[in-house]
This record gives sequence, C-alpha cells and structure tokens, in this order.
Amino acid sequence: MSLSSQLVYLNGEFMPQDQARIPVLDRGFLFGDGVYEVIPVYGGRPLRLAEHLRRLERSLSAIHMASPLSDEAWSQIIDRLIDGPEDQQIYIQVTRGVQPKRDHAIPATITPTVYAMGSRIAPIPTGGIKAVTVTDIRWDRCDIKAITLLANVLLRQEAISRGAAEAVIVRDGLALEGAASNLFIVQKQTIITPPKGDTILPGITRDLVLEIAQAAGFETVERTISLPELRSADEIWFTSSTREILSVTELDGLPVSGGETGPVWRSVLAAYQDYKRRLREGSIS
Ligand code: PMP
Repeated sequence: MSLSSQLVYLNGEFMPQDQARIPVLDRGFLFGDGVYEVIPVYGGRPLRLAEHLRRLERSLSAIHMASPLSDEAWSQIIDRLIDGPEDQQIYIQVTRGVQPKRDHAIPATITPTVYAMGSRIAPIPTGGIKAVTVTDIRWDRCDIKAITLLANVLLRQEAISRGAAEAVIVRDGLALEGAASNLFIVQKQTIITPPKGDTILPGITRDLVLEIAQAAGFETVERTISLPELRSADEIWFTSSTREILSVTELDGLPVSGGETGPVWRSVLAAYQDYKRRLREGSIS
C-alpha cells in the first residue's frame, strides 16, 4: 500500500495518511511536548498490548497528562489499523495538543492530539551488528517515552558515522542502553541487563526477553554494567520491539564473542521466535 493511501487515525477519525494534518501550534510540533508507543503485531495480534498501554499511561502521567482513551478504545483503533497477517508495527503518539499562542506554560485546558499509524516491520539483521560506545547527552528522565528524541537521533547518527548500526550509551562509567534499544550482556552464561530507573526506557522487549530467558533455564540479573564489563562480555545484545534481539559482534572496532553471534543469543532468540509463533497461532494472547 502506498504511503498516501494508508489508513491512519487522527483525533477520532480514520483517514488516508496524506490527508492527516496537524496545526502548527501543536505543542508536539513546537516543544516536542508529547509521548509515544510502538507496538509490534504478529499474525494480526499485538504483542504485549496491555504492557504497552500501561507504559503509555505511565509516560503520560509523568508529563502530567491523563490517558485520552480507554484500553478498549486504543484496542479498537489498533485493530482497525492492522493491515493483514504480516509482521507490522503500530505507532501511537499523544501530544499535549494545540494552544492559541506559543508559550511554554501548560494551559489549564487543552485537548490532546492523538495520532496512530501502522507500517511494516523492516527486515531484521540475522547476523551480528557493529556498535560503538557514545557519551550520554540525554536528559534525566530517559524512562519517559518522550517524542523529544533529538539526543537519541544525534547518538544514533554518531554511531552510523562511525560505521556502526547502534550506539551503547555510557553515563558515569555505566553502559545504559542503545539509542533506541535496551542493552544486555552475557557473562559466563548469566544474562545481565541494567535495572529500570530514570536512565533507561523500561523496554517491553527487555521484560519479555528476561521472562523468556528465565523460562529457558538461564540465570538473569538486573544490575548496572560497567564499561570494563561491557568490553569483556561474552555476548552483547540490544532489544527493541521492532528489532527483537540483535547480537553485537563488534564493539568500538574490536570483536565481541570472537566476532561471531553467541550461543546464548541464538538460544534466547529461538525462544523469542517461538513466542511470536504462538502469538501468531493464537495460543497465547
Ligand atoms: N530504549 C530506548 C531509548 C528506546 O527508544 C527503545 C525503543 N524505542 C527501547 C529502549 C526498547 O523498548 P521496547 O522494547 O519497548 O521497544
């Protein structure tokens, strides 16, 4: 389907994407004042929808907004945007809305702008990827899924300009997460990921990977990862809704896992694919 004819949702209506319009005084446009979600869909079934909606609610509450729609209403919008059984993603964005003049202060009454669209999930690399470490330039509320992504954009671009696919963001000597993904390392068969807090996004894939890895019999630990530990890890992974579990085989120009994807990654990724298969078949919801 072409971009222009693709159905999107904007403020209570469904319309072709090229007819969707946002006023220039929208605070999302002027200030990046809004939050978003990305929900993967397999076989027409959203993955971990309840968890995504809880995180959206949490992001909204952190920026002093109430959820504009009920879970039921979100679910109906998502169902209408799902286009066939192919793997796809639903993007949801809620901004604070449009105000009469540009002013940082939040107006007492304002109607949120609610937008949602679907798109195919891009092919995911099956081999390893290259990553580089970058210094964190983000703010102190990385737990909010804010649309204000300039720092993440610049950090991802820094990785790309250094010949890598993703950045490992480092703050105060700790490896935190990717520019658009969570971080895992493997140390002697133990799977380690940084704890939730205000320096990382609480990834839905992160939680699912921990759950799946535990069910597969692996030991998992949520604790900080120092830069030396990152550099000496047996395996390094990134997780996200649209890229699942990526294996890092080169960090800052040096091989990780001997430059090959690691055995723990292969086994957890296989369990993740099995989870998706069961979702597609409807044996889990
Ligand atoms: N951290 C950041 C900074 C992200 O942008 C994302 C995904 N957009 C993630 C982690 C992964 O979150 P999820 O697994 O929910 O996609």
